[in-house]
Amino acid sequence: MAGLEDLYKEIIIDHYRSPRNRGELETPPAQMALGFNPLCGDEVQVYITLDGETIIDVAIAGQGCSISQASASMMSASIKGKTLSEVATLTKAVKAMMSIRDGDDADDDDSGVADEVDPDVKLGDLEALKGVVKYPVRIKCATLGWNTLNEAIESPQQA
Ligand code: ZN
Repeated sequence: MAGLEDLYKEIIIDHYRSPRNRGELETPPAQMALGFNPLCGDEVQVYITLDGETIIDVAIAGQGCSISQASASMMSASIKGKTLSEVATLTKAVKAMMSIRDGDDADDDDSGVADEVDPDVKLGDLEALKGVVKYPVRIKCATLGWNTLNEAIESPQQA
């Protein structure tokens, strides 16, 4: 499986070197949140513009390690044009892939078994983040963009 791991690495490096949707959006109309990962010093700023329930534009700013920035770039590319409920499903699938369970999941239990990734969810490049699971300290880097996205949706900050 070394080949697959190399592929994951290439996807992450590609997103780190050529981040998608890099920049800022004017707030308002955009909603913004700023997220930090003090463990690594990562900083991710997520801007989204909503049209009703659909994310019609997204921009990512910030700085940090390759995992945090690549993950935010992949996230931005995967959420553009999606509805909030599609984004919620995708976020859950990504976290499940990284063996993270949201505390408020209805099916949450203490079995220690992670949620299954919904087979209907197309992860695409996001699958590259699977490799991060082997490095637990990096999981917070990989989820920073996703958590910050959630903040931008649920409780946007004033720019
Ligand atoms: Zn990091």
